[in-house]
Amino acid sequence: MNEVAREHGAHRSVIRELFEYAREKKAEGGAGAIYDFTLGNPSVPPPAEVTAALLRAIETTEPTALHGYTTAAGDPAVRRAIADDLSARYGVEVDPTLLYLTVGAAAALSAVFGAVLSPGDEAIVISPYFPEYRVFLSHAGATVVEVTAKAPDFSLDLEKIGEAITDKTALLLYNSPNNPTGAVVSREELAALSDLLRAKEKEVGHPIYLVADEPYRELIYDGEEVPSPLAYYDDTVICYSFSKSLSLPGERIGYVLVSPRAAEAKALYEGVMGAARALGYVCAPSLFQKILPACLGKVSSLETYDRNRKKLYGALTSYGFTAVYPRGAFYLFLKSPEADATAFLARAKAHGILFVPSDSFGVPGYVRIAYCVSEKEIEDSLPAFRALAEEYGLN
Ligand code: PLP
Repeated sequence: MNEVAREHGAHRSVIRELFEYAREKKAEGGAGAIYDFTLGNPSVPPPAEVTAALLRAIETTEPTALHGYTTAAGDPAVRRAIADDLSARYGVEVDPTLLYLTVGAAAALSAVFGAVLSPGDEAIVISPYFPEYRVFLSHAGATVVEVTAKAPDFSLDLEKIGEAITDKTALLLYNSPNNPTGAVVSREELAALSDLLRAKEKEVGHPIYLVADEPYRELIYDGEEVPSPLAYYDDTVICYSFSKSLSLPGERIGYVLVSPRAAEAKALYEGVMGAARALGYVCAPSLFQKILPACLGKVSSLETYDRNRKKLYGALTSYGFTAVYPRGAFYLFLKSPEADATAFLARAKAHGILFVPSDSFGVPGYVRIAYCVSEKEIEDSLPAFRALAEEYGLN
């Protein structure tokens, strides 16, 4: 038996465990029994174009074509439409033959790690990070090297990144807008990171791929922007998902995109195809491939997230908590009033509040509050948060 695999299966992620706990509590006491801020499940419906495109596809496509296999990498017409959209949006060359449709960002990341990393290679990950990165990277046999972003705003720590790069570094993975902090990598940061990586590539004498995990790319507030690394750094690979932008997490659709300017782009793409094949990730869900061309550039309404974000940040900081002001995604990263964030969760549970301690994201002392819930749930939870703050003597 493969003990590493068994370990990953036997120990569910902390987020999943909390989600199950919330489900049990709700079953016992009704929906109002618990304020569940654990899971990044979009709470707003997909844009109207998604439903319209689904109905159209079902009504107008011959069933065997609708549900049949596509090529392993996905329908060429769909890949071309995505490439054209990205190219128009970011003003960069995008090659549809370097785009591979996947079952969400999770499969995209796994395929890229499988393509780039050999056992013993080092992968730099910016913490705090999406906890599943560790599972995907360990499966690829890589050594994970964590570089913590700079508090209080969790911007990139370029000095530490520079120090962490060795001749074994094969990739650097970053996620912007960030889960769990809501931080967004700015143009200046991206330009400086690209300069650093180019210099380090020369030093170590091999490519260092920049892997951008971008499922929250369009979830951005206050008129900010998410610059694309494609425009800054040649050795870029994008992992994207429609889970959040189109509110389709259960449908499992996303892609890997290798920059046409990347070193050995074609060979790298072949590696992505091979790794995806070895993992069994061929032919992403056909129906959801088919609706994409009609939905590119569309985004679920951000109004509820934005209002929740402002209300929660405003209320919690007025109660005396300290939090990172979220600029994107739908998470609030709150400083735990005691060093042990799990102890903070235990006290919050007594008030009916559930959130995720930051330890599983690779940093101690914070909790992640997923505010992708209804506005009513945010409002209803505020007295419980206030009582929790009072218990800690904040304010
Ligand atoms: N990357 C990050 C940062 C995420 O937050 C998530 C999901 O929450 C994923 C990847 C996986 O996304 P998908 O549902 O597309 O597999």
